[in-house]
Amino acid sequence: MTPNPASSLGPVRSGHCTLVGAGPGDPELLTLKALKAIQQATVLLVDDLVGPDIAALAPATARVVHVGKRGGCQSTPQAFIHKLMVQAARDGEHVVRLKGGDPFVFGRGGEEVEALRAEGVAVTVVNGITAGLAAVTSLGVPLTHREHAHGVVFVTGHAKPGSTGTDWRALAATCHSARLTLVVYMGVSGAARIQAELLTGLPGHTPVAVVQHASLPGQRHAVCTLATLTATLQAEQLGSPSVIVVGDVLVGVQALEQATPGQEAAPRLPGRAAA
Ligand code: SAH
Repeated sequence: MTPNPASSLGPVRSGHCTLVGAGPGDPELLTLKALKAIQQATVLLVDDLVGPDIAALAPATARVVHVGKRGGCQSTPQAFIHKLMVQAARDGEHVVRLKGGDPFVFGRGGEEVEALRAEGVAVTVVNGITAGLAAVTSLGVPLTHREHAHGVVFVTGHAKPGSTGTDWRALAATCHSARLTLVVYMGVSGAARIQAELLTGLPGHTPVAVVQHASLPGQRHAVCTLATLTATLQAEQLGSPSVIVVGDVLVGVQALEQATPGQEAAPRLPGRAAA
């Protein structure tokens, strides 16, 4: 995209902006590049899914601005965040836009990059581990498996207001026939509808896992089937932020959980013979 010649904000000095993926929460899951960018920041604009342990890695002299935007709660309008980033970069700051997971997975990172480029601001992006990946890994489950899933679909359960949203029926049929793992972000509040529509194309016994606060000390999860998803969410009181994972990659963890409900799926080595 070409710089916007009509910009009202004046010329860019030597500042720049880096969109940094903070990962799912555990600071040890940050990339070295992310850590370096955070440590070199003079201004940080931080999303509310980014925990205090990660924001604390910034220099004490850096200005930290929290611009959270949880669904349904008070939030900083996106256009205002764009303006803050552009203005700070024009003032010569090293701006880090710290976003949960990966900036380019449901993080509105695409919109932010476009807005910065349109104003002629140099922008780079540092990947983070996305929540869906961290969630299944924490259960010891892969997203793809030669026996169970030939691919993976990351999908939002919360479409842009006014848009028609996801065609869950088509997605269910495709995931079934093409053997794909489905990872639903922002799906808890719409789970009843998502469940009903997915059941048109996927069997009720399809394994499902819901993982809340993946990678954080407060992580909780439940393993169930597509037929029991909503009942399980209610019974286990699982809320946001959670990812809902649907697919046969979960068969192993499902079997383990049924044997020992509520416990983490931890395979054991046979006991040592006494010396
Ligand atoms: N860019 C982020 C996603 C932002 S959308 C990423 O790549 O992970 C916000 C949604 O991400 C939440 O509603 C939830 O579905 C998911 N999410 C983010 N962090 C999570 C976590 N630690 N555990 C479970 N889900 C999480």
